[in-house]
Amino acid sequence: MNHSHKCRPVMERIMEKVNKDGPLWNGTPCWEYKGALSHGYGRISVPPCKNAAVHRVVYQSLVGTLPARIELDHLCKNTRCCNPAHLEPKTHSVHMKKNKKDRCINGHLRTAENTIYLRNGKRKCLICKRIQEKARYHKNIEYRREYARKLWRERH
Ligand SMILES: [Zn+2]
Ligand SMILES: [Zn+2]
Repeated sequence: MNHSHKCRPVMERIMEKVNKDGPLWNGTPCWEYKGALSHGYGRISVPPCKNAAVHRVVYQSLVGTLPARIELDHLCKNTRCCNPAHLEPKTHSVHMKKNKKDRCINGHLRTAENTIYLRNGKRKCLICKRIQEKARYHKNIEYRREYARKLWRERH
């Protein structure tokens, strides 16, 4: 590693190794770090720290400074992701609790806006519901096309 390389702004060094078209979470793509990883998290040398967590560096330069004791939670569960929209600062205890409790089976965070209560008292995730409805809609389009093709064949 030469000197000029080290002097380049850290965000520039990170972003050239980030694929901003990663898997979608909650409608936006993960920013996947393609550089060095350690325990699944992207790492980069930011003097004086030799082993800084990439997602923390990105979050702090795009969103704001974080006290060292505050962890960043990957809402998308993709530990190499550094999309600030997929990161949420937490204290350790809340971090543990939230991961267990307030999520639907597909891992969407349960908030007041995306949760509805069914008559049997169960909660339903609106993000999942929307995805299911979209899938059903597309299936219906396929079905209608197939039906139209069948009618056409019968008449010709
Ligand atoms: Zn992500
Ligand atoms: Zn869901």
